[in-house]
Amino acid sequence: MPRLLLLATGGTIAGRADEATSLNRYEAGVLVGDELMQSVPQLEELAVITVEQIANVDSADLQFHHWRRLVARIREVLAVDPDLEGVVITHGTNTLEETAWLLQLLIDDPRPVVLVGAMRPATALSADGPLNLFQAMQVARAPESRGHGVLVVMDGWIHAAREVTKVATQGVGAFESPGVGPLGWVDDAGVHLPPAQPARPVPFSDLQLAEPWPQVAILHGCVEPPSALIPALLSAGVRGLVFTGTGAGQLSALERCALEDWPGPLPLMLRANRCGSGPVHRDEQFARLGLLPAGRLSPQKARVLLLLALMAGLDRAELGTLTSQRQFMS
Ligand code: ASP
Repeated sequence: MPRLLLLATGGTIAGRADEATSLNRYEAGVLVGDELMQSVPQLEELAVITVEQIANVDSADLQFHHWRRLVARIREVLAVDPDLEGVVITHGTNTLEETAWLLQLLIDDPRPVVLVGAMRPATALSADGPLNLFQAMQVARAPESRGHGVLVVMDGWIHAAREVTKVATQGVGAFESPGVGPLGWVDDAGVHLPPAQPARPVPFSDLQLAEPWPQVAILHGCVEPPSALIPALLSAGVRGLVFTGTGAGQLSALERCALEDWPGPLPLMLRANRCGSGPVHRDEQFARLGLLPAGRLSPQKARVLLLLALMAGLDRAELGTLTSQRQFMS
């Protein structure tokens, strides 16, 4: 029997409500990983699964110390246990894509690391968690999943960490990979994935996640954004900014002026977009201000990249080199 590790972190998949018909009013992160396993006895036929509890929170309440613990445990177990087939992480859906992308940038191992959540609490009529968990385990133990990087399994679809995002507040099909579609799917017949790329860049595979983590803010583009925001954030010691630009990553004149007027050095900055899909390219007018394009990364994933770049001590030129790598960004 293949061996897998389940790392439980909470979320709706571990949520409990008073009524089976309560889909929106419930408490996330109540059931522990062992209880999730007990709700899917069919897992016993799939693999020998060890369960560890990393946290038990709503994923909106995840903090950097949770991420550090998760990364440390995955790195440790993959290093010391060559016979382990893969790792599954149960996670709240709200920030699942951020954790998936963080791990994609940090974990250098061909074995699958699979994140899974649920849109309905465990107590709900037609809860989606049990089948999602079963299918995540199917994916984690499949040889076809090796070398694809970090994967997300929701509602039978397999998504790549870089592409996946939550696109709806409710409904079991709330995850998509905009513009490119899912990487594959999983069903009774098994795991359906294309052949993996021969080499996957893992830019921060050696990075040790020391405390404290830098503060990186996301600014949302809109008509007449408050001009006091940028100097307020910079005065507060924020070390990185992600702009959720309008259109293809446009900043308003108000925002550009605030950056031009800032008397000190500007932090590392990335331009993403608020459209939800499509690229942000290099633009000289913004590059002069030190703003680098985030490619097709969503603002929240651009922020994760910036957090790690700051922790790794990258300067703007080095971040520019990293973000210009097509294989990595586009
Ligand atoms: N509030 C939940 C969370 O992100 C939502 C979910 O898991 O679906 O933890």
